[in-house]
Amino acid sequence: MSRSAAVESDQLYAILRRRGVLWPTADVYGGAQGLVDYGPAGAALKRHLEEAWAAWFLGVSPDFHRIDPAEILPEAVVRASGHLENFTDPEVVCDHCHAHFRAETVLEKARPEGVDGLSPAQIGELLTQQSARCPSCGSKELAIPRPFNLMFGFDFGATGRERAYLRPETAQSSYLAFARMWDVGRRRLPLGIATIGRAYRNEIAPRQVLFRMRAFTQAELQVFFDPEHFRPPFPTVADELLPVLRVDRRRAGAEAPDPTPARALVADGLPEFYVYFLVHVHRFLRDVLRYPADAIRFFEKSDAERAFYNRIQFDAEVRVESLGGFKELGALHYRGDYDLSRHSAGSGRDLGVTLGDGRHLVPHVLEITFGVDRNVWALADAGLSIADGRTVWRLPPYLAPTPVAVLPLIAEEHGRVADAWRAALGAAGIPAVSDDRGSIGRRYARMDEVGTPWCVTVDSETVAEADPARATATMRERDSRAQERVTLDTLLDRVRRGVVPPRPAAVELSG
Ligand SMILES: [Zn+2]
Repeated sequence: MSRSAAVESDQLYAILRRRGVLWPTADVYGGAQGLVDYGPAGAALKRHLEEAWAAWFLGVSPDFHRIDPAEILPEAVVRASGHLENFTDPEVVCDHCHAHFRAETVLEKARPEGVDGLSPAQIGELLTQQSARCPSCGSKELAIPRPFNLMFGFDFGATGRERAYLRPETAQSSYLAFARMWDVGRRRLPLGIATIGRAYRNEIAPRQVLFRMRAFTQAELQVFFDPEHFRPPFPTVADELLPVLRVDRRRAGAEAPDPTPARALVADGLPEFYVYFLVHVHRFLRDVLRYPADAIRFFEKSDAERAFYNRIQFDAEVRVESLGGFKELGALHYRGDYDLSRHSAGSGRDLGVTLGDGRHLVPHVLEITFGVDRNVWALADAGLSIADGRTVWRLPPYLAPTPVAVLPLIAEEHGRVADAWRAALGAAGIPAVSDDRGSIGRRYARMDEVGTPWCVTVDSETVAEADPARATATMRERDSRAQERVTLDTLLDRVRRGVVPPRPAAVELSG
């Protein structure tokens, strides 16, 4: 998949707004920082992306389930999880122009690994050492206010005595659900609990539209397992090449990933279960979302960069040209028994389980996390091309907002039959749109821009055929622009197969 030139971020956002994919929240009031609304095309694309994610990752095992928990968490939960104390993003304020910045941004050059884990005093020292200046006015008068918690907290109920928080990540709900899922399920490990939904963070500096938002959608799968016995069928993936950028290669200045066989990563000390899921994440990005293979990279985080409870972390990154380079679209975290141990301590309830062999164990967690909004942007970035005045969004049919458009060549003459075709598609569960405005070329162009893979034009030949089963219309494919005459049955068959997202071969995972 090639494109003539990288689409600029502003140009990309302009296309997305024009086609009703998304726009700033409260647009008529000038927008709200860090919030967006999805229009019809964006809502459909986002829903299809979530469905593709669920089909793929829940398809890995029959013991992986999706839940739909509440978005509000009582204070006890975020106290136990550590968010109340630690979910801060150190901030720097300019005493001269009063602008606020993330400390990480001001110290980007001096400390590319970020400022996670540094105290305000240590950050202050760094600012002095580096003679850091205000990115806005250049002043050296920078101050560090008290840490600012990124959670949205509020009074819960009418008494004013209870506090609650909008969830800062969907993962916590899956940890809270573990005990009940154990009881209602097969009482065996591994057990997977997935949540797709919004999370909320009061970001100091929202930016890049869908990349640092204050309300965003996550798709997260928490796999609870027994570290002694978790043995996915690794030999089935051992030869797969993964584009990894290891910590040692990064220290040597490398930016490009090294294609590395899965078995070599295991020989190097990574657990088989971890690499097995890394392969599934890779296949999802390459084969399901269809990012160009050479634009994908697994970026290993060092001890200093990852949160202390993460034992292993690779970020799933894709090169996003409109934003100038590789961006994190997801990650794979091996979190050990941190989460269930914290919630055992916080709730006073033992969240460990007794296994078939009598052992009592606090299950370990492997977290697979995806930023849904970020992937919407990255799909637009990777798929939209502008060449010879033609804008085309090359989305897989199962992700496209609308899989098929039915176009009457002349509205007055062919509209009734076109409506019948559209109704037949709708009855088969395939949402089809109609468009009778402007020349057929203009209509194809509008559909190309929003990624519709197939257009069907109903013309006088379609209308002239007395037997509806034998009537044909012109089916045009978006990418090749190839056209052929098809019957309604052929069309239904073609589209129906196209809109089903791929699934992995389900296997029984033990441990
Ligand atoms: Zn300033």
